[in-house]
Amino acid sequence: MRLDRGPTASFKDFAARLMGRWMQYYLKKENRKMLILTATSGDTGSAIANAFYGLDNIEVVILYPTTEVTDRQRKQMTTLHKNISVISLDGKFDDCQALVKMAFSDHDLDHLGLSSANSINIGRLLPQAMYYIYAYSRLAQSENDEIVFSVPSGNFGDLMGGLIAKKMGLPVKKFVIATNSNDEVPKYFNEGFYKTIVPSINCISSAMNVGHPSNMARIISLYGGVMDEKGNIIKQPNLDLLKNDMFAVSVTEEETRKAIKMMYDKHKIIIEPHGAVGWNGLQKYYANVGNDGDLAVCLETAHPAKFPKEINEIIGIDPELPDSLKELDDKEEKMTRLKNNYSDFKKYLLNR
Ligand SMILES: *Cc1c(COP(=O)(O)O)cnc(C)c1O
Repeated sequence: MRLDRGPTASFKDFAARLMGRWMQYYLKKENRKMLILTATSGDTGSAIANAFYGLDNIEVVILYPTTEVTDRQRKQMTTLHKNISVISLDGKFDDCQALVKMAFSDHDLDHLGLSSANSINIGRLLPQAMYYIYAYSRLAQSENDEIVFSVPSGNFGDLMGGLIAKKMGLPVKKFVIATNSNDEVPKYFNEGFYKTIVPSINCISSAMNVGHPSNMARIISLYGGVMDEKGNIIKQPNLDLLKNDMFAVSVTEEETRKAIKMMYDKHKIIIEPHGAVGWNGLQKYYANVGNDGDLAVCLETAHPAKFPKEINEIIGIDPELPDSLKELDDKEEKMTRLKNNYSDFKKYLLNR
């Protein structure tokens, strides 16, 4: 299921756009304004910027680490203007996130109406339930058909959408949760023992380099358990039920590359690293339980042209850019460069 056809060629477009419009609707109705603060290592920022661009009653400030985003990711944020402001921070992604967190807890800024748009927001999860239902509606021959979804996962927001769809009645036989080498969740499923990975491991499926998924506490609670903010399990969920619904598996870098190569050699289809993790995860599920011919859908979460270097190394092809990404090059960029300290950031927010 190609979820990469939106304006920033990421599955995140889907939920971010709907959430932005929901927010605009209620803000207008209640005559309120909101300032969204987002720290990004690249992809989330561009999806949020694009989704909120031009909306009424909402301003967006995005912080990215100056040296840690690609030219294209940066241009996707800095060429929009209007209600989208961008800060290039002399620091790392964690510094961006730390400044945003400080701003949220600073009462001097209460009057700005600060809010976030990250993937634990229910406004991002609900729209994501829809494409699971849509896929089933296209593929099922009868109401008795069951379906398997393979979901390449980082913060587990995409998966949460699927779990919500299942709770609403979608006959999902199994969610295959495919992670890269950040395997804290597959380990937990197999051993019942959860340990965050700090710092997270760098893999080519970079949007899934997450050592403690922000939706993990929610999934645990959905199955009757309790997890605290730091990732300690206070009460175990019903692991049997959890494993009945989900099969979690970790995919190595080598397996990711092999999946991209196989898919191209055999089917002439170009997939990118995140989708490749999902594809390999599904093969591992079949190796484990057998393939009994059930419907199965793999989610492809980004466009291959966003990973030109990796794709070229693996299959020797430069994937063609989708139109939405092509137009960026000639546009004017605007951003504010800030040093990594809170007082400068606070001044910026108060004076804008
Ligand atoms: C964000 C992202 C993911 C992971 O989605 P989660 O909801 O965080 O699990 C996978 N692939 C791509 C391309 C992404 O940008």
